Amino acid sequence: MINPSQHNCTGCTACIMSCPIKCIHMKQDEEGFLVPKVDAEKCVKCNLCDQICPELNRKNVINIGKVYAFKNNDLHIRLNSSSGGAFFTVAKYVIEKNGIVCGALFDNNLKLIHKCVSCLEDVKKMMGSKYIQSYIGNVYEEIRKNLVAKKIVLFTGTPCQVAGLKSYLRKEYDNLLTIQLICHGVPSPLLFEKYKIYLKNKYSIKEIEYLSFRKNNKFVITVQGDGRKLSWKGSIDLYLRPFIKGKNYRYCCYSCQYSKNHIADITIGDFWGVEKYYKQFCDSHGISFLMLNTSKGKQIFNLMENVSFIQSKYDIAAKNNNNLLNPTVLNKDRYIFYKDINDPNYIKNLKKFVPLKAIVASKLPNSLLGFLRMEKNE
Ligand SMILES: Cc1cc2nc3c(=O)[nH]c(=O)nc-3n(C[C@H](O)[C@H](O)[C@H](O)COP(=O)(O)OP(=O)(O)OC[C@H]3O[C@@H](n4cnc5c(N)ncnc54)[C@H](O)[C@@H]3O)c2cc1C
Ligand code: SF4
Ligand code: SF4
Ligand code: SF4
Repeated sequence: MINPSQHNCTGCTACIMSCPIKCIHMKQDEEGFLVPKVDAEKCVKCNLCDQICPELNRKNVINIGKVYAFKNNDLHIRLNSSSGGAFFTVAKYVIEKNGIVCGALFDNNLKLIHKCVSCLEDVKKMMGSKYIQSYIGNVYEEIRKNLVAKKIVLFTGTPCQVAGLKSYLRKEYDNLLTIQLICHGVPSPLLFEKYKIYLKNKYSIKEIEYLSFRKNNKFVITVQGDGRKLSWKGSIDLYLRPFIKGKNYRYCCYSCQYSKNHIADITIGDFWGVEKYYKQFCDSHGISFLMLNTSKGKQIFNLMENVSFIQSKYDIAAKNNNNLLNPTVLNKDRYIFYKDINDPNYIKNLKKFVPLKAIVASKLPNSLLGFLRMEKNE
């Protein structure tokens, strides 16, 4: 039976959903990540959990397809997306075919969950990257029911979640389409809960109604509540800065098997540095990296409307996106990051990870920053 402490458990839930006795449950570890726990008394030692676990059965699927720099032509869609709106473009197509889209959205308590939805209004809630590990719940089961009912289903998520779904299904479905994100790692849901409490206290907000991590393709925190809207740069934020610097991910992320393993039909991400190669194609609103890994991915791509793209190369995109080549390097601060997470001053104490020079730089206009960087590089 599965023993997550002995391997790189990603928390994908495939073992839980597959256990015939239903004797595996998710339990929060001391850092706030969900980890499967077996009730040994009920377990019948069928070994299914070990057989389906994507981490115990790693496969090398280096599947490099055609790569594109991609954008939706509707600026409003791009402004609400993290980069070029690749996710929304595919999701809209699926909804128009009466299909189901399963992705990550905030529920009414601002908890990040995976949900299956069937209308465009709900798909809009999935737009934009949320930098927390999402709660998968029982969506795999719901997806299987919809696949059996012959509905088209689009599943989007981190590659380990796509792997979890595929392991759980244990067979290919023609009506399942999958999108994996390029992924550098996920912080724990408990850390995010603590962060929300800190924000409420700091800004005297009773209820946070909206929170986002990106604006116009940049790392920016935006918080709305009690009729107010506040915004600041991610580089000085106590949650987002350590995230960007790779200090607070689940341990499995530092040996992630999916930087080069493209197991979904389509891979999407940020096409960082794209303006160096295709200046005419770019503006400041974000361009997606999009890679077609299977014939299903290619078919959908050919049906997309109101989009622009330029064919590119994996190597070009990877120059500014290390997670297309390697997992994030384990940062020395990671060992102590979650220590004392239950201390009331825990989030405030994360100030130690925001250096003074970052605070000073955040106050300078972008034009001056660009000039200083040029000087430094000369
Ligand atoms: C934790 C995380 C790490 C990432 N790391 C990288 C990286 O290293 N390099 C890179 O190029 N891109 C990374 N991305 C992806 C990138 O931020 C954009 O999602 C991508 O550019 C697609 O943008 P878009 O405009 O097409 O769509 P968007 O509208 O931004 O796409 C939203 C999609 O992301 C899904 N999603 C959002 N948050 C989560 C989450 N926490 N867990 C699972 N699914 C989620 C939604 O379900 C939806 O399908 C990361 C995203 C996340 C969530
Ligand atoms: S060995 Fe079988 S019964 Fe036991 S936990 Fe694994 S799947 Fe469940
Ligand atoms: S199947 Fe997923 S959740 Fe279960 S042990 Fe393996 S990685 Fe962890
Ligand atoms: S970095 Fe890898 S293991 Fe971590 S959440 Fe992303 S896909 Fe999963």
